[in-house]
Amino acid sequence: MKTLLKGGIVVSGGGSAQLDVLVDGEKIEQVAEHILCADANVVDVTGKLLFPGFIDAHTHFDLDVCNTTTADNFDTGTRSAIRGGTTMVIDFACPNKGESLQYGLDLWHKKADGRSSCDYSFHMTIDDWNDEIKAEVPKMFEQGIPSFKMYMTYPAMMIGDKDLFYALEEIKKYGGIAGVHCENAGVIDALIEQHKADGKLAPGSHPECRPNATEAEAVAHLLRICEVADTPVVIVHLSTKEALAEVMAARARGQKVYVETCPHYLTLDESGYYEADFRKAAGYICAPPLRTKDDQNALWKGLYNGAIQTVSTDHCSFTLEQKEAGRGDFTKIPGGLPGVETRGVLLYTFGVATGKITKEKMAEVLSENPAKLYGAWPRKGAILAGSDADIVVYDPEADTTIKGEDMLSEAKYTPYDGMRTRGSIAQVYLRGKLAVEHGEVKIGAAGTFIPRTTGTL
Ligand SMILES: [Zn+2]
Repeated sequence: MKTLLKGGIVVSGGGSAQLDVLVDGEKIEQVAEHILCADANVVDVTGKLLFPGFIDAHTHFDLDVCNTTTADNFDTGTRSAIRGGTTMVIDFACPNKGESLQYGLDLWHKKADGRSSCDYSFHMTIDDWNDEIKAEVPKMFEQGIPSFKMYMTYPAMMIGDKDLFYALEEIKKYGGIAGVHCENAGVIDALIEQHKADGKLAPGSHPECRPNATEAEAVAHLLRICEVADTPVVIVHLSTKEALAEVMAARARGQKVYVETCPHYLTLDESGYYEADFRKAAGYICAPPLRTKDDQNALWKGLYNGAIQTVSTDHCSFTLEQKEAGRGDFTKIPGGLPGVETRGVLLYTFGVATGKITKEKMAEVLSENPAKLYGAWPRKGAILAGSDADIVVYDPEADTTIKGEDMLSEAKYTPYDGMRTRGSIAQVYLRGKLAVEHGEVKIGAAGTFIPRTTGTL
């Protein structure tokens, strides 16, 4: 059965135009003005925007962390994702230190296969370096995993400079890329010690122990290591204007640096940590922390002028009950926010509708660029003949209000509660199937693993 989406505005990074989209099975067959097709089911999408299915290149589902497990697994996390227009997630396979990469990859397949409502892939976390791990790197590429993740902080996952350097060199041999979590672990630890000694144990201490400079220092540090290794790199969840300045300095030296930021750094600020209600404040705890309005403005500007290439969520959800673990000690609050369901509508509302970015830029940073950077293009991230028929039908007139109780995430709250949106998602198609209509998820575990090749952004 063919489906013909008629009368919508097809949006891509290169421009927008009123075009019909003919879908045959799982693929887009044709994109053109006035398509006629007698045997197609015609869907009138006049006045709607058609975005390529959003790709969230930064999620953490079913992750054991902070002495607990994330509220969302692949079942609930991907249902929440597709409801928000995300037709593919790239989660982080995360073997513990001492475990092999293959063990981590097999484990993440077990968590995701047959349970996901959107398509998916994994980045491979490297938190150890030795001859065995080194020998496994090419085997990851063979299994469709060309991207990796390393941490400059968190004792359970952090990798020292020497191993980071070796890993970057090895990944480069095969044309892959690494994303790195950049925060200065030592200084943060010292500030935490001082805050604890002073009895400052409330959530408000969280941003005070992770000031902007601790991110900027780590970004600068990483980028000098990449300069020596002569490798490109992705700065994940960049949150400060100072860190972005370090990226611009590295680019001026001729380095290739990609930047990801997240909706929460674009729309929320650190004032939430000082809410009198512990649960409310704890609900905002993530690392890097929420910053200032000044940082928000720098990030929007970075998106507008192309300094920032992607917006992913870093969805790492905990219920407010789980966050209670840190009442009386802010360092024990599980860190991470739910967000996989709200990314598209937030980017449209606070970016496109306010004129901070264009709708074409939104398509670029949510769909096209992650597909290109992480080797899924043009199967994903494009409304082109031959691409997977992953399509978000956005109704720019159907305003709504974001409410925690409406979310499908098991976090059961949203940091964006009460925000009024400009427009909302009318339908989502996943490989030609109508997956979401007016907020209702109409498919089961229809998602599949998408093997990727080396990227081309
Ligand atoms: Zn993350």
